[in-house]
Amino acid sequence: MKIAFIGLGTMGLPMARNCIENGHDVVGFDLNSTALENHVANGGTVAQTGAEAATDADLIVTMVPNASHVRAALFEPDGILDGMDSSALVIEMSTIHPLESDGIREKAASRGFALIDGPVGRTSMHAQSGQLLIMAGGTKSQIKQAGPVFDSVGDTVIDCGGPGMGIRMKMINNFMSIVNNVVTAEALTLAESIGLDVNMAVDVMSGTAAGQGHMSTTYQAKALQGDLTPAFMLELAHKDLGLALDLAAQVQAPVPMGAAAREMYTIARRQGRGQQDWTAIYEGIRELAGLEHSK
Ligand code: NAD
Repeated sequence: MKIAFIGLGTMGLPMARNCIENGHDVVGFDLNSTALENHVANGGTVAQTGAEAATDADLIVTMVPNASHVRAALFEPDGILDGMDSSALVIEMSTIHPLESDGIREKAASRGFALIDGPVGRTSMHAQSGQLLIMAGGTKSQIKQAGPVFDSVGDTVIDCGGPGMGIRMKMINNFMSIVNNVVTAEALTLAESIGLDVNMAVDVMSGTAAGQGHMSTTYQAKALQGDLTPAFMLELAHKDLGLALDLAAQVQAPVPMGAAAREMYTIARRQGRGQQDWTAIYEGIRELAGLEHSK
């Protein structure tokens, strides 16, 4: 199968290499000549333009920094759409704004070309090892058509529910992991500030919801089951968070995420959720968002 790879940077280069190693003929295009040299060293061939790379390709991957780069790669003169066949499929794997992704897909469709979103989860180390997680946004037949690329670059493909849903899922995934990063840093900093050994704190929290994450532990057991009878009462969580915030103030450790979280526990208590399970925070936020009230 002939695959065109547009964007051979930190992610694209190893992803293209994994396509080569899976037996595909991979033609690369990048604005950076070093990237092209690296792709040739990996056994790929290179084109002078996006149109040339896309000519006769079955699948065309774009893996560039942001939406303006995707638009340039696709729509500028000598871009992908000037070379690709109408039976081929563009797989847009960059992380860009979902509304821009929708506009790009619609513009390509207006010219008779199909594009799906397939952003990736995990890191450049997983791109190297071919173990990315792909959040696929397209019709079922398009996701199947993209299989040779997805199977080469990743070990998990999740159908996110239709065109545009892959990049929407990517936003949610990154929102949560990026925010979790800050609260993780706050907790470990507070641990150190009150004299705890950080490695010991990591050991302890790796065995509790603190480190394992709520989604796969407490939410699975309670809120996602529609069960808000208290395993750990929201009132008690509010009290414990207050103790930690007080300690943080005394040692002058910054805990901005913790302070914001306490406001949410206060709101949930005002909503009458004090005697519910602490995962009722989820129902409280759903209520504030105007979503259908379930509990
Ligand atoms: P990068 O900057 O290392 O590589 C991007 C490449 O695209 C560069 O080589 C650049 O020259 C090329 N490029 C830009 N415009 C082009 C154009 N019009 N035509 C051809 N080539 C063009 O970026 P990266 O780390 O590989 O990230 C790519 C995308 O993947 C981003 O949207 C990023 O957010 C996303 N992502 C990155 C990671 C990560 O860990 N690095 C993880 C998941 C997703």
